[in-house]
Amino acid sequence: MRLPNDIVPISYFLDEERRVLLITWSDTHESAHPYEALRRACPCAWCAGEGGQKGSVDASTQFTAQQTTIYELEPVGRYGLTPVWGDGHRTGIFTYERLRAHCVCDECQRIRAR
Ligand SMILES: [Zn+2]
Ligand SMILES: [Zn+2]
Repeated sequence: MRLPNDIVPISYFLDEERRVLLITWSDTHESAHPYEALRRACPCAWCAGEGGQKGSVDASTQFTAQQTTIYELEPVGRYGLTPVWGDGHRTGIFTYERLRAHCVCDECQRIRAR
């Protein structure tokens, strides 16, 4: 799914209670990203692997509460965001496109189910 260039995150909110990252986009969409699912989807070489090497994170990886808590989001250029995790992990760059692809809101799930 290609994301048009003018769709960018405008603001975000860390819902500590529900442990969900909420991002508001320039097309008024509000995307939802459960912390743990986001950490599991970390695209960095260490977590996801690289060049055919298996990463250290898969569907059965058990995370600590610290590892699945987001402290803040750091912008990466004009194309992505890096979550800073409670354990200091901060090497996973989520491009805007990837973030939108991971949104779990009803609308996006409906679109993906088609
Ligand atoms: Zn990672
Ligand atoms: Zn959505």
